[in-house]
Amino acid sequence: MIIAVDGPTASGKGTIARALAAHFGLPHLDTGLLYRAVGRQVELAGGDPDDPAVALAACDFAESLLTDPALRSEIVGGLASRVSIHPAVRRALYDRQRAFATQPGGAVLDGRDIGTVIAPEAEVKLYVTASVEARAQRRFAEMRKRGEAVSLAAIEDDLHRRDQRDSGRADAPLRAADDALTLDNSHLSAEQSVAEAIRLAENGRR
Ligand code: C5P
Repeated sequence: MIIAVDGPTASGKGTIARALAAHFGLPHLDTGLLYRAVGRQVELAGGDPDDPAVALAACDFAESLLTDPALRSEIVGGLASRVSIHPAVRRALYDRQRAFATQPGGAVLDGRDIGTVIAPEAEVKLYVTASVEARAQRRFAEMRKRGEAVSLAAIEDDLHRRDQRDSGRADAPLRAADDALTLDNSHLSAEQSVAEAIRLAENGRR
């Protein structure tokens, strides 16, 4: 069974994907980490993320980079969203994601184009979303907890910019697959959102 979980930044899709993987006993791949590793590699090399050749060269990152705590930073998230626009980067990361999706027994993958490009045949496709205000509030709370000084307005601006970049790109834009089930969790707690995702996945599997 392949489960595809797509959605915008800070929608809670990562939490949902991990919970679904645990519930169904499946391996999980956070595909955003791959794009973040490319962004981080560009940063380390001091290159321009908007240059397709520079971004493509960064796809050759060392495996150890995937555990670099810096991948989780807002700066690297922004770089990931810029390198992910280039079709050559998306092609370079395709085989790895496809192999993970099609491994025997199945898998859970979360990202932006899992249900549309990486695994269009997935049995269960969830499109997880929430209002910009709700997503900004969550990110704000997380960052405050980590002691980072940020303003809510700056986070909202950044989410708008990333949404536009992810949804507006020509190659594999963020969108719900035609056969995806949409879960809008703007008014749900994390626990309610996970419970609803499990219910949808259980129903969708039948
Ligand atoms: O999900 P996460 O925020 O870690 O992803 C970082 C960036 O990587 C996203 O803003 C998006 O531009 C890109 N991405 C993508 N396709 C995916 C996963 C992530 O384009 N499947």
